[in-house]
Amino acid sequence: MRVVSAPMIHHLDCGTMCPHAGVALRLVDRSTRHLVARCTLIEAPGGLVLIDTGYGTGDVADPRRLGPARHLLGARLDPAQTAAARVRALGHDPADVRHVLVTHLDLDHAGGLGDFPGAQVHVHGTELATMRAGRRSDALRYRTAHWAHGPRWVEHAADGEAWFGFERARLLEDVGVEIAMIPLFGHSAGHAGYAVEGPDGWILHAGDAYLHHGEIETPARAGRGLRAYHRINCEDAGLRRMNAGRLADLVAAHGDQVTVHCSHDAVELARDVRTPDPTAPA
Ligand SMILES: [Zn+2]
Repeated sequence: MRVVSAPMIHHLDCGTMCPHAGVALRLVDRSTRHLVARCTLIEAPGGLVLIDTGYGTGDVADPRRLGPARHLLGARLDPAQTAAARVRALGHDPADVRHVLVTHLDLDHAGGLGDFPGAQVHVHGTELATMRAGRRSDALRYRTAHWAHGPRWVEHAADGEAWFGFERARLLEDVGVEIAMIPLFGHSAGHAGYAVEGPDGWILHAGDAYLHHGEIETPARAGRGLRAYHRINCEDAGLRRMNAGRLADLVAAHGDQVTVHCSHDAVELARDVRTPDPTAPA
């Protein structure tokens, strides 16, 4: 029988971005001044599990490997903000991270893979296949330097079991925590979120399925600027919009059981680390 116990969950701020397109976010909410690159560390009985890796120490040392998208995103590269540094600050050795779960392979999520070379890297099979196809249109988002070390990829696909109405793939049945991959295609071809059963209920790390908390409120708030940003920066805009709508429905119906967050919303991060909202008026 599986031993399942409540893990410690740490919400990590692993990057700061001030994109020119941040103007688009302000069209939705005037308080949005910057984007974060959020990662989640799970201290499970069976070892450390990290969701997403932000930018890595290799990116800090050689920003050119990020290509031109670094400028579009306005990435401020800081060695103290890398996931490896955040893991160390919590008193752990990055080598003890056994599993990395990536929402997708964009440069601001997969940049730190090389800092965890011994970990298994879990990814949706469609995302991995799309990256490997090497499409010209993906050259800005997928950066070969991020997997030059040869990650130990583990591909997944949904097994059809329902999680609050979403398809899921059960993962890591040996770490002692309920964790599932939730396909949320659209932003990228094989984009996925991760659901984790924590001490205060479920959390869902939804990656880039949406960018601003207003998008999953009811009624949703997404101004023209933000919608345009998604259209430009998206594999399948219709699918992405549909999945953001499903997340809004999830929060409306089960917000007492599930806390949803995305990768880049500073207000959501402040909510979850229980620190003062950095955008609140003084
Ligand atoms: Zn992103």
